[in-house]
Amino acid sequence: MTIADHLTHVRARIDAAARACGRAPDDIDLVAVTKTHPADRVRDALAAGQRVFGENRVQEAARKFPGLRAEFPDLRLHLIGPLQTNKAVDAVRLFDVIETVDRPKLAAALAAAMAKAGRQIPCLIEVNIGGEPQKAGIPPREADAFIAECRDRYRLQIIGLMCVPPADQPPAPHFVRLREIATRNRLPHLSMGMSGDFEEAIRCGATSVRVGTAIFGSRPNSPI
Ligand SMILES: *Cc1c(COP(=O)(O)O)cnc(C)c1O
Repeated sequence: MTIADHLTHVRARIDAAARACGRAPDDIDLVAVTKTHPADRVRDALAAGQRVFGENRVQEAARKFPGLRAEFPDLRLHLIGPLQTNKAVDAVRLFDVIETVDRPKLAAALAAAMAKAGRQIPCLIEVNIGGEPQKAGIPPREADAFIAECRDRYRLQIIGLMCVPPADQPPAPHFVRLREIATRNRLPHLSMGMSGDFEEAIRCGATSVRVGTAIFGSRPNSPI
């Protein structure tokens, strides 16, 4: 199967999952996660009509995406991995959405970088929904205060929440908890669900799913 075939299949699964719970398939964005895959494979996905992509490292995105953007000016790139404050300026230049705002220092660095660039980029706040010590994301109990701080103090355009649930637990309760935090903070977007659980995430209210392996195959040399 080609990348185009995999994309068709994943889109069909998204549509079916949405319809099965009474949602409009168009309300769910597919973010194709291209980390570790070379630009040629991203180009195959672009040729098949895919336009929204996710990368988890600034440097890798900087190598791959400026050339692709020149060929496909309407592509949209999401940062879905942890961001160091000293890379905020580069991230603001390279990405269209930053999904991983998770601490005040980063919010401040992004606000400064966006002011300097004269470019306001929509952001999501990453929540460490399973409370895992090694994982990125704001702890759930601090989420409400952090969302308010990002909006009121740093004036970031916060459009939603993102999470990666613990790998060894059923994801649905975590997805539901993320949705509850979003609802009470009036945030419309929920980035949740990956290759193994995106249908479950759609049932729980995801508005975008981040899918890598089911489109591009496995990542043999990936550290993640
Ligand atoms: C790699 C990655 C994905 C995609 O995972 P797959 O299981 O390959 O679909 C989604 N979200 C984040 C944050 C990732 O790092």
